[in-house]
Amino acid sequence: MVNPILLAHVYLSLCNTVHLPWLADFSAKKNFKEGSLRHELHKKAVATLNSGIDLRQAVKLPEGEDMNEWLAVSAVEFFNRVNLVYGAVCDFCTEESCPMMRAGPAYEYQWKDDTSAEYKRPTYVSAPKYISLLMDWIEQIISDESKFPSNPEVPFPKDFQKIIQQMFRRLFRVFAHVYYEHFNQLSEIGAEAHINTCYKHFYYFATEFNLIPTKELEPLKDLSAALCKK
Ligand SMILES: [Zn+2]
Repeated sequence: MVNPILLAHVYLSLCNTVHLPWLADFSAKKNFKEGSLRHELHKKAVATLNSGIDLRQAVKLPEGEDMNEWLAVSAVEFFNRVNLVYGAVCDFCTEESCPMMRAGPAYEYQWKDDTSAEYKRPTYVSAPKYISLLMDWIEQIISDESKFPSNPEVPFPKDFQKIIQQMFRRLFRVFAHVYYEHFNQLSEIGAEAHINTCYKHFYYFATEFNLIPTKELEPLKDLSAALCKK
């Protein structure tokens, strides 16, 4: 059995900026107003993500909290973290190295966005293009007051959980791409343990709330089983 205190210590040291040189280029995409309820819940979500202890338990909806609020603050936090993970390899992920958004030879992803004239139909794009479109798409959603209301008095939209599911399904693909196509580079810069921990948090959260269909999780099925075994 692994000592949970040791685990927490290892994780915190991994998150320390000293060990993450690419963090300098990273800025959180969305912040919550200090002192607001959502800010407090966001702090709780971050603390949970940083805890490293009994993650399967820790991702659960905190008692007395609203499900949508929990999904919202956690989605923002995971979005920030996936940005960070991709930031570690983005210099290696180019039009030449990754002309297709894929996870190994068996899984290819096309970009689709009903709100964009260019991508109304599923379209093959390069991995850096796909990930850039994806990050912009999420940023747009979380800045949209009708989808991610910052005022707790304003209700979440009816399709909020659908939006969250789509967000997680797409964020998963970034992990899949990075693991399949850039794992060696991650290892070389010493970020392997960091991405594993981030993925594990993400996987626990996504499966706790059924955010990603099993079929979509297939590319990393073996990895998930190995990392997230009891
Ligand atoms: Zn790539």
